[in-house]
Amino acid sequence: MSHPIPSEFDIVFAGGRLAAYDPSLRILILEAVPTSTTVTFNIGNPSPRLNGRAPIVPCGRCVGWRLMFMVYTRPPASDYDDWETNGWESESLIPLMKKLETYEVQPDLPTHGYDGPIKVSSGGCKVGICDEFIQAVANFWLMYKRYIDGTTGRRSDAAHHYVYNQAHNSNLQVWDGKLVKRIIFKDKRAVGVEFTSDPVSCPDADRSSSIVRASKLVVVSAGAFGSPTILERSGIGAEAILKRCGIEQLVNLPGVGENYQDHNLAIVPYLAADNVVTMDALWRGESILQESLAQWNSSGKSLIAQKLVQVITAVASIQKIKWRPDDEELKAMDPAFQPRWKEFFQDRPDKPVAIFTSFAGPSDIVPLDFGYKKTREVFRRMASYRGEVAAGHPDFPEGSAAACREASGPVDLNAPDIVYTAEDDEAINQFHRDIVQTAWHSLGTCAMKPEADQGVVDARLDVYDMSIVPLNVGANTYSTALLIGERAAMIIAEELGINCI
Ligand SMILES: Cc1cc2nc3c(=O)[nH]c(=O)nc-3n(C[C@H](O)[C@H](O)[C@H](O)COP(=O)(O)OP(=O)(O)OC[C@H]3O[C@@H](n4cnc5c(N)ncnc54)[C@H](O)[C@@H]3O)c2cc1C
Repeated sequence: MSHPIPSEFDIVFAGGRLAAYDPSLRILILEAVPTSTTVTFNIGNPSPRLNGRAPIVPCGRCVGWRLMFMVYTRPPASDYDDWETNGWESESLIPLMKKLETYEVQPDLPTHGYDGPIKVSSGGCKVGICDEFIQAVANFWLMYKRYIDGTTGRRSDAAHHYVYNQAHNSNLQVWDGKLVKRIIFKDKRAVGVEFTSDPVSCPDADRSSSIVRASKLVVVSAGAFGSPTILERSGIGAEAILKRCGIEQLVNLPGVGENYQDHNLAIVPYLAADNVVTMDALWRGESILQESLAQWNSSGKSLIAQKLVQVITAVASIQKIKWRPDDEELKAMDPAFQPRWKEFFQDRPDKPVAIFTSFAGPSDIVPLDFGYKKTREVFRRMASYRGEVAAGHPDFPEGSAAACREASGPVDLNAPDIVYTAEDDEAINQFHRDIVQTAWHSLGTCAMKPEADQGVVDARLDVYDMSIVPLNVGANTYSTALLIGERAAMIIAEELGINCI
């Protein structure tokens, strides 16, 4: 799509996503970075609970963000119901989830869709160690699929299925490398945006500002970091922050940029037998990369079409599970988790407490500590297990039965679990405080809830991305981002009197 001259469109999107039901609508997407994927790193404040570390939060920058790991998961229905927002109940949202996907994994499931634009499959290429993991965790839930077209082996994302596939429509334009500075208002109505060349992706470009006008709508959809900053630069935000930045206040909305939420992530490495197929060589960029690429080009199937969660593991490529403790496990967990369990999980049996793979993304430090023990027992029973990479594990006291070591093979399926002392538990806890990261699932910074509770948008929205999520979801977040896009498209279509059925 070329960069044209018009200075007025019907709808201007500040940020990456779009749904166009009426091809005659003149729609412009302003995206900060060129169409290739980049990741930026945002640094939080140091926290004593992280042993003084400042968390680093990567966020994607790319039209329709390309889902680096391609992991498909959906949140449980109760997560959406917990938002308590009219029109956003799981019952109303399931038809939209069905509408946006083609679920190639299994036919005839009542909650999945079979003719939508986003393709979900098992990815085409099977790695043996995945099966080992599945066997070893047979008593847990298994729920992991990928945003990959099972026929072509290509990624399936919003950019390709909602934007690039409409290249024939000259009314839809993408201007990339353009950073939206602020929204322009006339009598409190958004009438356009001011933008400039993105200084990060286009360092040599002219820095002067331009204005593009929107006759019908300005949509802010710049993600959990981009959306609140655009609002603040436009004069919408907390009085103290705008004052400090010398921005004239248009609306006092203290919730803008607050309520940030994410998932915790801890990565723990294990050793595998020499003959096991892993993603290590791909990760290191060795010659296998070219071979794998050629294989994928000819058949659409190769290690490259595995989700990158598998690449990130140091030694293996494996599946993921959603986990919820049973009564025995709850008793074994630190009682500090009880209040959180009672408040959030106990009465909602569809909510997982953690997601385990070779790394874990639990909701708090206690499940993270418990999850370390749980997943270690799983890995010890996999045929390819050859021990732990001690440097990536807790620093257990000398002589501890839990100490990490190399092994000649797995333990028996019925072997007793490792017994941890109070000192071992402390080592695990400190380990997590030293290494836990965010899971790149930023959301909540323009929350859809009442203004009195630091809300920013109402159920009809004005901002359309993960920043509106009022309460975190127990899954990877792209499915919710796609869903918000679908619901947003409906709301916009209704407002403009366009038929979107
Ligand atoms: C490394 C990584 C891997 C991930 N892997 C997975 C996965 O495997 N599965 C999964 O479900 N989820 C995954 N996620 C999460 C998922 O990508 C996000 O939840 C989802 O993309 C959020 O969508 P969004 O529309 O809210 O924001 P984004 O997708 O971030 O889109 C916002 C866009 O706005 C642009 N922008 C920001 N500010 C401006 C501005 N001022 N002017 C113009 N443009 C602007 C950004 O460049 C970006 O392209 C991953 C995230 C990361 C960072």
